Amino acid sequence: MSCIFCEIAKGNIPSNKVYEDDKVLAFYDLDPQAPVHVLIIPKEHITSADDINEQNSSIVAHVFEAAAKITKQLGLTNGYRIVNNCGEDGGQSVKHLHFHLLGGRSMEWPPG
Ligand code: 5GP
Ligand code: ZN
Repeated sequence: MSCIFCEIAKGNIPSNKVYEDDKVLAFYDLDPQAPVHVLIIPKEHITSADDINEQNSSIVAHVFEAAAKITKQLGLTNGYRIVNNCGEDGGQSVKHLHFHLLGGRSMEWPPG
């Protein structure tokens, strides 16, 4: 199975890295939707938020711990948005769990 975010996590496909630890990687989105647009992914392959369960849910807490470090690192002092797109209706295009960290402008609500 070939998964582009697994390849990025392994370093086989280059990315513009923002943060990395043993469990997660964060890198700039190729097609930014805000002045700051970072993707935070678990290194472990999980297809989507719909595949979170008792065994793997601690990674989600870890993603948010990483996010709080990254926002400070990037100076997002005025707030930001973290988005997960899940499945077809959610608009998920890459089938490896990821969280969009968007900042640097004010966000609209509700999203389209
Ligand atoms: P989704 O639509 O699945 O929530 O988000 C996938 C995101 O991954 C999109 O915002 C898209 O621009 C980004 N993306 C897709 N392929 C790559 C890639 O190879 N490198 C980077 N940095 N971003 C990617
Ligand atoms: Zn993957």
